[in-house]
Amino acid sequence: MLIDAYLARFGPSTFAYLLLLIEVTVDRSCRALNQSGQPCRQAPQTDGEFCFWHDPTNEKEVVEARRMGGLNRRREQTLATVYELEGLGTLDDILRAYELALMQNLALDNSVARNRAIADVATAAGRLYRDNEMARQVEQIKSVIEGRLPASQPRKRRWGLF
Ligand SMILES: [Zn+2]
Repeated sequence: MLIDAYLARFGPSTFAYLLLLIEVTVDRSCRALNQSGQPCRQAPQTDGEFCFWHDPTNEKEVVEARRMGGLNRRREQTLATVYELEGLGTLDDILRAYELALMQNLALDNSVARNRAIADVATAAGRLYRDNEMARQVEQIKSVIEGRLPASQPRKRRWGLF
């Protein structure tokens, strides 16, 4: 085995372990090529030379996983359209998500859990408004004082001890 060969040649020295570490790190990538003909960079499975996606024995599982991935993407797109929610990339998107959660909970029968969920949504929305307002005020302050500050000097970096 590779480890035994290294240990036999170099003994249990740091150098030998370093070489072993390099060998293990460099050599542990999937042997397949990806769709663009480049080597696949995924880690291989512990008992083989290929990653899950390229292991020929996983062909059925890979087809099923890709099919499920496609179904999930279509489902997400349908839900995004139905609920008019594109994601959480903007404040408006986040507020829309809060509105949806609020409306869905309001539609439920009255319960302690429902009221907690409504309070959680209100709390989260309140934090969002507060943070947004703080950011707006900081920008206002910066715009007022920026012209009055002396030009900032680039800091001299010191490397090492001297
Ligand atoms: Zn692979």
